[in-house]
Amino acid sequence: MKPAAFTYHRAGSVRRAVELLSELGEDAKVIAGGQSLVAMMNYRLARPEHLVDIAHVKGLAGIRRVGGALHIGALTTHHAVEVADLTPDFAVLSRTMRWVGHLPIRTRGTIGGSLAHADGTAEWCILAVLLDARIVVEGPGGTRRIAASDLFLGPFTSALEPDELIVEVVFPRRAPRAALTEYAERRGDFAIVAAAVDLDGCPEAPDIPLVVLGGVAPTPLPVRLGPDFTGTTGPGRFGEFATAVADQVQIRDDTGVSAHYRRGLVRTLVERACEEAAQA
Ligand SMILES: Cc1cc2nc3c(=O)[nH]c(=O)nc-3n(C[C@H](O)[C@H](O)[C@H](O)COP(=O)(O)OP(=O)(O)OC[C@H]3O[C@@H](n4cnc5c(N)ncnc54)[C@H](O)[C@@H]3O)c2cc1C
Repeated sequence: MKPAAFTYHRAGSVRRAVELLSELGEDAKVIAGGQSLVAMMNYRLARPEHLVDIAHVKGLAGIRRVGGALHIGALTTHHAVEVADLTPDFAVLSRTMRWVGHLPIRTRGTIGGSLAHADGTAEWCILAVLLDARIVVEGPGGTRRIAASDLFLGPFTSALEPDELIVEVVFPRRAPRAALTEYAERRGDFAIVAAAVDLDGCPEAPDIPLVVLGGVAPTPLPVRLGPDFTGTTGPGRFGEFATAVADQVQIRDDTGVSAHYRRGLVRTLVERACEEAAQA
C-alpha cells in the first residue's frame, strides 16, 4: 500500500522544526529514520497531512561522554550505537542493538524515533527506563527534560506534545553490569518478551538487581523485589531471583500468547540477562 497524500517540509534546524510543528498543529508529524512511521502510513494507521523531516538537522546525531554520563543525540542511529566503543560503562547499549530489527533498519532508525514511537517492547524504551534516562525535548516553550519513567503513557503513547521534538537522550549513570535479552519468533522481530537487568540496581537499592520487562505490559515494566533479595547479585541466586520476578508480575492472556507462556519466558530471560550482566 501507499500512504495517503501529505505535504513534505524539510527542517534545517531544531528551531525551524519546532516552528513548523507549532504552525501545522496535530496534522503534522516528525519523520526521522522513517522505519516505523512510513510503515504506519503505508498501512494507513497514520495519515499525517504534513511531514516535518528532521533527518538533515545538524548536531542532532552523535554520542558523547560528559563526566560519568552518556549523551546520545536524537538522530543517532541504532547502528551507530552498535558499533560505538561504549565499554565498559555503557556497553549494554551497543550489545543490545543487535536485537533491533535487521541491519538496514538499524542503519536508518534512530533513538529519538524509537522513544517517540513508544512501543513497549522496543529495546530503547526498555533500556531508557532501566538506566533512568532523561529525554531532552525542545518545544515552543523551550527545553524540558522528561524522565524515561514518565515518558511512556500507554501503547504507542508518550508524554510528548505534538509540537515537541526529542533532541537528546542522557544516560546519567554508569551501568557496567547490565544486559538485555529477549525472545522473538524470528530473528529481527519485535520481542514477545524482553528482559533487561542492571545488577547494580538503582541508587536507592544498589544491592538488589533492577529489572525492566518488555512484552508483559503496555509500557516497559520495572520490577523491584524487596529487601529479601538484597545481595542476589551473585550467580548462585539468579534462578531464585528470576523465579521471584516471574511470580510477582501480573500478566494477562492475549490472543497470541498465554500468560503462562509469557511468565515462563520472563523467568528464563531474567535469569539469562543476570548471567550475561555478570559476565559483561
Ligand atoms: C521490519 C522492522 C522490524 C523492526 N524491529 C524492531 C525491533 O525489533 N525493535 C525496535 O525497537 N524497533 C524495531 N523496528 C523499528 C525501528 O527501530 C525504528 O527505527 C524506530 O522504531 C523508529 O525510529 P525512526 O527514526 O525510524 O522513527 P520514524 O519512523 O521516523 O518516527 C517514528 C515516530 O517517532 C516520531 N519521531 C521521530 N523522531 C522524533 C523526534 N526526534 N522527536 C519527536 N518525535 C519523533 C515520529 O513522528 C513518529 O511518530 C523495526 C522496524 C521494522 C520496519
